[in-house]
Amino acid sequence: MYSASELDEYLVEMREQVCSNCIERPAGGPPCAPLGKRCGIELHLSKIVDFVHAGHSTLIGPYADRLHNDVCAHCPNSTTRQCPCPLDYLLVLAVQAVESVDERHKATAAEV
Ligand code: SF4
Ligand code: SF4
Repeated sequence: MYSASELDEYLVEMREQVCSNCIERPAGGPPCAPLGKRCGIELHLSKIVDFVHAGHSTLIGPYADRLHNDVCAHCPNSTTRQCPCPLDYLLVLAVQAVESVDERHKATAAEV
């Protein structure tokens, strides 16, 4: 469970690292949901943070497995034509965004 401010920090990083590279970004987005574009980045942010925290890997495979098992398997968007969403093909960037925030926290904690 994450506080609203913790999730906000992850979302800001997602916007910078993922959304800025998204070719499906609707005009005027993000946020994309109000524009009719449903994307895992906005739908499942806390679950993305969870599966990244479930274990570090230098390979993308374990993260992709967790995405599909922990998120996509329960995603209400999975049966629509909007699936797969950008989270699927920008997964590397999404993982990097979460890890960037975590590394920043570790660096801050080490300074104290
Ligand atoms: S569709 Fe997803 S990845 Fe693309 S800009 Fe919107 S929230 Fe970001
Ligand atoms: S790839 Fe499909 S099932 Fe997975 S989060 Fe995106 S829309 Fe949902």
